[in-house]
Amino acid sequence: MGLLVVGSIALDSVETPFGSNADALGGSATFFGYAATVFHPVLAVGVVGDDFPEVELQRLAERGVDLAGVERVAGESFRWKGKYSYDLRNRETLDTRLGVFADFEPRLPDAYRDAKLVFLGNIDPALQLKVLDQVRRPDLVACDTMNYWIQSERETLMALLERIDLLMVNDAEARQLSGDWNVYRAARWILQHGPRMVIIKQGEYGAVLVDETGIFYVPAFPLEEIRDPTGAGDAFAGGFMGHLARSGDLTHANLRRAMVFGATAGSFAVERFSVERFLEIGVAEFTARARAFSDLVHFDTDGMGDHDG
Ligand code: AMP
Repeated sequence: MGLLVVGSIALDSVETPFGSNADALGGSATFFGYAATVFHPVLAVGVVGDDFPEVELQRLAERGVDLAGVERVAGESFRWKGKYSYDLRNRETLDTRLGVFADFEPRLPDAYRDAKLVFLGNIDPALQLKVLDQVRRPDLVACDTMNYWIQSERETLMALLERIDLLMVNDAEARQLSGDWNVYRAARWILQHGPRMVIIKQGEYGAVLVDETGIFYVPAFPLEEIRDPTGAGDAFAGGFMGHLARSGDLTHANLRRAMVFGATAGSFAVERFSVERFLEIGVAEFTARARAFSDLVHFDTDGMGDHDG
């Protein structure tokens, strides 16, 4: 199943209580690509400037990210600078420099247009729509967004919601979009405005998948060491969509498995800065951690009694 992503391919400068980096590989399409290619090749759509390190593009390509849809143009690459609080729960964006992204007009190579799975990474919803317009008959379209677009491009975002199957956002974004502080009511609000499924990510508290059949919960993997939360959401999306692409199975039971692979990818992303952790692991480590989730939540209902006194 062809798997397409559009998103930022960035140079990030990140400061956490546990270290910092400068102009390191980042961006929504990048984190997605590193996670998804554990399972399946990815067709990437994006833009980089002429300052973007060639070695990083080569590494992406070697992993199985097709860069035919990534334009290289004169100018500065997208740059993002962020700083995290001590508990890593909050982050402040210190600087966003769009660079070549400001004039980006996505153009899909013809071979991309038959992709069956599409992930619209966090960029201007008008660009997300332009990508969607060029895909012929996708089976599943998933989409991310952020506070900036919810506030400044609400109308376009609402039009986009009508055309997607799955919205993947974090709890703060779900609250902002729906105007409801309760994430489950926020999920219901989102389901009434287009998508048939919504995933709400809650950082160290896990993530929920909500659709008409109910709610499925996956915890966050318990890690003793977290260095940099950047890209966890995009990696989650990559693990989720990569598993769906490899299996070709879009049943609800398999979407639940995809949630576990998403949580697994997110957990690897945060263990190191940038995409470093993905360079150390392969499908075996990935699958072993995914399987370990079942022990985290499994318990035997026999012997619980009915406690009816
Ligand atoms: P996440 O931690 O999942 O929200 O993703 C962080 C990544 O998103 C970083 O690598 C940034 O380069 C990228 N990013 C931050 N702000 C934006 C934006 N306005 N548009 C596109 N990508 C962004």
